[in-house]
Amino acid sequence: MSETIERIECLIIGSGPAGYTAAIYASRADLKPVMYTGMQMGGQLTTTTEVDNFPGYPNGTDGTMMMEDLKNQAERFGTDVRFGLVTSVELSETEGGIHKVTVDESKLIEAETIIISTGASAKYLGLENEQRLIGGGVSACATCDGFFYKGQDVIVVGGGDTAAEEATYLAKLCKNVKMLVRRDEMRASKAMQHRVNTTENLEVFYNTELDDVLGDTVVDGVRVVNNVSGEKTEIEVTGVFIAIGHKPNTDLFKGVIDMDETGYIITKGKSTKTNVPGVFAAGDVQDKEYRQAVTAAGTGCMAALDAERYLAALE
Ligand code: NDP
Repeated sequence: MSETIERIECLIIGSGPAGYTAAIYASRADLKPVMYTGMQMGGQLTTTTEVDNFPGYPNGTDGTMMMEDLKNQAERFGTDVRFGLVTSVELSETEGGIHKVTVDESKLIEAETIIISTGASAKYLGLENEQRLIGGGVSACATCDGFFYKGQDVIVVGGGDTAAEEATYLAKLCKNVKMLVRRDEMRASKAMQHRVNTTENLEVFYNTELDDVLGDTVVDGVRVVNNVSGEKTEIEVTGVFIAIGHKPNTDLFKGVIDMDETGYIITKGKSTKTNVPGVFAAGDVQDKEYRQAVTAAGTGCMAALDAERYLAALE
């Protein structure tokens, strides 16, 4: 454990649109924020190719480029962006108290305010062979891994916007894509459903679930089950993409920060305030409703303003 303890006004944990927007506002307010990016620098958007719905990009943009732009903008105003993982926290529950944070199990930081923007991570089904074959044909990110399945047959599990987006992305690379939707309809937006339905080499199987992933060291097929008829069928595929939603990254704060039953941080009223004074939450970590880059950015801005006002009120 390192002996030097760094004291700062504002610590931002996580580097998605919420974290970087908080950083832009906090640095412009002279809070001299330090950001720890987490292991996936730039967050979930770095696993997306096209971003067509962020205001200000008439021709769309690329997720990784957009996050690089946000990082540069935050650094332009003085944010200290550091690659590292917060591994434990000891939060003070008193007004004006100092929060203690450990980074990479060695560096100690004392922060007057903390903005939690740790986002959410992809969920898996939990099947034994699905878990065993992660990296051997099972993936939760088509834009990261799709390239490896060029010209092959794959399946996508899920019926939301993520699944629809991943399936249409994969259809451009793969020979054939099958999408397994557990209900008799998709949850995805009408626009995304239209895209799915008009993609030639993409077939949708409704009322169908993944029963098992087949293969010794790599995937060579799946067994699917029709949940109405109970009929099971084996399909030859080399790739299995799981796209069934996300889980908030809040394990660090369990038992200290108030959360709902699914682990999303509860913020007070229209603010980003958590139950702990001086600790604020922004982005997907506190939003299971909208989960968009632009809404995450909006709450990042709010968190920085809330932190600034909290510090001003203490003076
Ligand atoms: P969602 O929660 O919207 O959808 C999850 C999908 O997975 C649903 O079809 C759900 O089925 C299915 N599912 C969940 N659990 C299982 C399971 N155990 N077995 C089989 N299927 C399962 O998550 P998404 O990640 O798709 O989207 C999250 C948010 O992000 C949404 O608000 C979405 O609109 C947004 N988004 C927007 C994009 C864009 O605008 N470009 C792109 C991607 C996401 P069921 O419907 O039966 O619950």
